Amino acid sequence: VPLECDEGYFSSYAHFGIHYDMLSDKIRTQSYKDAILNNSTSITNKTVLDLGCGTGILSMFAATAGAKKVYAVDQSDVIYHAIDIIRENKLENVINTVKGRLEDINLDEKVDIIVSEWMGYFLLFEGMLDSVIYARDNCLNPGGVLLPNRCNISLVANGDVDTHKKLIEFWSDVYGYKMNCMKSEVVREASVDIVSSQHIISEPCIVKDIDLYTCNTDIVNFISEFKLPITCDGFVTSLVGYFDTFFELPQPVSFTTGPHETPTHWKQTLFFFKDCTEVKKGDVIEGTISCRRLKKDARGLSVLINIFGKSHKFILS
Ligand code: SAH
Repeated sequence: VPLECDEGYFSSYAHFGIHYDMLSDKIRTQSYKDAILNNSTSITNKTVLDLGCGTGILSMFAATAGAKKVYAVDQSDVIYHAIDIIRENKLENVINTVKGRLEDINLDEKVDIIVSEWMGYFLLFEGMLDSVIYARDNCLNPGGVLLPNRCNISLVANGDVDTHKKLIEFWSDVYGYKMNCMKSEVVREASVDIVSSQHIISEPCIVKDIDLYTCNTDIVNFISEFKLPITCDGFVTSLVGYFDTFFELPQPVSFTTGPHETPTHWKQTLFFFKDCTEVKKGDVIEGTISCRRLKKDARGLSVLINIFGKSHKFILS
């Protein structure tokens, strides 16, 4: 994405609210802390790049774990606060802050470890993975380590008819007027919300497994088949998308953003269907999902789900 088209993205990270949301997401932040501090023998005396340092939290974890030098890079103005925070913690001798887009700056050296919290809704929304791949290919020493190093995306079926009703039936009667034509429109936008595990009516299915060491920027455009074994009678109202993140280190750490565990600030991504489909325990619903970058907004995604003999198109932007 050319920088001049991307200022909105970086200025969104200049607000404090977004950093509060990320830092107070304990599943997220504690996983990074555990991955780094429980594996300090892999970090001690190493050079580290924190790609998109925000408030500098991951850089400070790395410094505390004994890193020799940490490069904390961010294009957003939040980095001015990171500078103060790093000083407040007397870590400025270890952590070098650099303001800029990673793709536009030159580090003094290649690093042994890249740590980054780049994941977006439905993993790939926001398109920061491209920058991680750039960093891996241009800034990492041979044999270097990526944190995290693997992510996967899963789908599972949602049987929450009440929420579906609220969302779809709402348009039947709006202050006495019919807005039925909106029903097929509103479902085109994927929504981000917390789904309670009690509404899940299938086993999950992994639709994409991403190895950060080997993937390239085409990974965002994928097509995959899925099979969802139904676990109880009900009506499928939507498919729920979420991701898992893995730090495969001597002391491995992972976390999920799925509906069966404590919610994270990513919540889940919902792909609602206009009509519910009745299913019975033991059914296996099959389909395909294809994901594409949006042409007009490279950070956005278009998701096509073929299921129940129909094609459903969704936008995340
Ligand atoms: N590491 C912090 C913040 C993560 S949010 C934490 O874990 O709390 C992602 C950050 O990456 C944002 O502050 C954003 O401005 C920054 N970012 C995204 N792409 C970048 C790029 N190509 N170069 C520099 N910074 C980037």
